[in-house]
Amino acid sequence: MQPHTDCPTAKSGNREPLTASDATFIYNLPFSDLLFRAHGIHRANFDPNAVQMSRLLSVKTGGCAEDCGYCSQSAHYPTGLKASKLMEVDRVLSEARKAREGGATRYCMGAAWRSPKDRDMDSIVAMVEGVRALGMETCMTLGMLTPQQSERLADAGLDYYNHNIDTSERFYSEIITSRTFADRLDTLANVRQAGIKVCAGGILGMGETAEDRISMLVTLANLPAPPESVPINMLIPIPGSKLANAKPIDPIEFVRTVALARILMPASHVRLSAGRTDMSDEMQALCFFAGANSIFVGETLLTADNPGEDHDAALFRRLGLKAEQLERAE
Ligand code: SF4
Repeated sequence: MQPHTDCPTAKSGNREPLTASDATFIYNLPFSDLLFRAHGIHRANFDPNAVQMSRLLSVKTGGCAEDCGYCSQSAHYPTGLKASKLMEVDRVLSEARKAREGGATRYCMGAAWRSPKDRDMDSIVAMVEGVRALGMETCMTLGMLTPQQSERLADAGLDYYNHNIDTSERFYSEIITSRTFADRLDTLANVRQAGIKVCAGGILGMGETAEDRISMLVTLANLPAPPESVPINMLIPIPGSKLANAKPIDPIEFVRTVALARILMPASHVRLSAGRTDMSDEMQALCFFAGANSIFVGETLLTADNPGEDHDAALFRRLGLKAEQLERAE
């Protein structure tokens, strides 16, 4: 086993390639041993009682050309979602101001596109610059990016770009056929090359096996630099979508995946993303103990429900958690 995955108090820094068999061994440890190991690594790299809070806004909803089987916004499925045009920059900034007042330190903006069109880039750049001027970190998810588009967003000061790999390479084509796993990795490489921090994770409960979950995390951990942010979503089955009837994931398997993400990527923020409304408070508490240290706040995530801020505030009080403060050099 690799040293940085073996020691419960390992700090980040060692970058030896991980094998699927090492990761499988860890994933299958007795649950208490796995959590002890993950929590030790978490504690060695982060304040275990601080959780980073992001707010997500859909700046262009629905009508997407991609066929992601889990998504309410794909034009391929009769999900009943009405498509909208790209939101006005002023409205985005006014929403961002409200998010800042609510305690969010990172503002994530998502557009349901295969990739951004050149005609939209001026507005996108204005959104990034405007949100940064409010003193928040910025994140965008706009689909596939070329090297040139990545450079333009980097020049605008974009902090993070989200582009999930969703699942393992093996299982990927069961979920999406309109673009490949390699396309996803190309966009992540373009973003990284431009100097933007990477946010990349996946979705659990799509019918994948434990091996697929492990493989997805090994792929992320073995990128030239692991993503700074790793969202772990739990599928919200969308009526009309390809995965409308997917069997829910066992919560213990979900927690195991969070723990493995923490162990394989010790310095990354691991985010509990979509699906928190279907998680008990106890399941979320286990995820925080296992190394999750980021959430989305607000009533909605793009088009999906999210626990309200009152519920999150009560849960944070019960668990003694606090919001992570933003540390920015400039
Ligand atoms: S996940 Fe993104 S790319 Fe895929 S269909 Fe939904 S909006 Fe489009």
